[in-house]
Amino acid sequence: MRNIAFGYSTRCNIKCAHCVAPKDTLDFQKIELARAKEIILDMSIAGVTGISFTAGEPFIYYNDLLELVGLCKEKSIYTRIVTNSFWAPTLEKSKQMLGPLKQCGLSQLRLSFSRWHQQNVPHQNILNAAHGCMEAGIDYFVSFVTDFSEEDDQYEQFLRDNKLKFFPEPVIYAGRADSFARKAIFTDYQNNQCTMNPYLAPDLSMYACCDAGSHFNNTKFFHLGNLQDHSVDQLLTKSETDPLYNCIRSMGITAIASFAGIKARDIVTFRKCELCKILFDTPETLSALQAAGKELQRWAR
Ligand code: SF4
Ligand code: SF4
Repeated sequence: MRNIAFGYSTRCNIKCAHCVAPKDTLDFQKIELARAKEIILDMSIAGVTGISFTAGEPFIYYNDLLELVGLCKEKSIYTRIVTNSFWAPTLEKSKQMLGPLKQCGLSQLRLSFSRWHQQNVPHQNILNAAHGCMEAGIDYFVSFVTDFSEEDDQYEQFLRDNKLKFFPEPVIYAGRADSFARKAIFTDYQNNQCTMNPYLAPDLSMYACCDAGSHFNNTKFFHLGNLQDHSVDQLLTKSETDPLYNCIRSMGITAIASFAGIKARDIVTFRKCELCKILFDTPETLSALQAAGKELQRWAR
């Protein structure tokens, strides 16, 4: 199954303190609508079966979204849109926006919710968007971004009180959140495997990991290439056949960290993406892992 996070534009109408957007800049990037359609056709030929529209706030380009989602439907591609729900101040407005998207074939909406998002978007919008989905027959879930602090209890309670379907999503300490103070954690010795859906950025660069991967700037470990120079199929094939990526998918980050010499006692103090960054965004460690080849792949129970 080939799924892609499609970054149509980095433009957003709000500015969350935890956003992975790199820096405070007024500039934004966007793919031309015609080019985005060509890319979706290429993705269809390459066997992509799911596209998640993300990056900045996709609903800013609502009319473009209708066309892109409609094209995906024509090509039997499952579609999701990630949104902050700014467009749903009332249930009526929410239904007005979601009806046409449903007609175009939208499969799912992922509603971002957190103490940072909700400084700019009222809680009520999340309810309106979720109820609008229910009425329009669109699947939805709330992505509850949290640093697992007590401060977030009231946000989780809001979701529970309103019986919304939600999944906690750890803050990614990159971009604006890079300066956040990290709380000490102590995890289980879990595998930390990743499915690693690729991410297409508006500058047409593709990355093997859609989360923190595009912020590994020392080694550019997850950068697959650019669609100006390669086809969708070439970049996806690269993602699927890279031996280290496949170790992340099959062995998991924890086993790789152990192989690399990190003490078990230290491993359990890192968040998954932080451990990943230590391993793959440090040139010396990355070279050693690349050189290890089969020896690393045999480091399995
Ligand atoms: S986290 Fe999402 S909603 Fe918030 S500024 Fe970033 S792109 Fe916009
Ligand atoms: S652990 Fe690594 S591969 Fe997985 S989401 Fe985090 S940065 Fe991406």
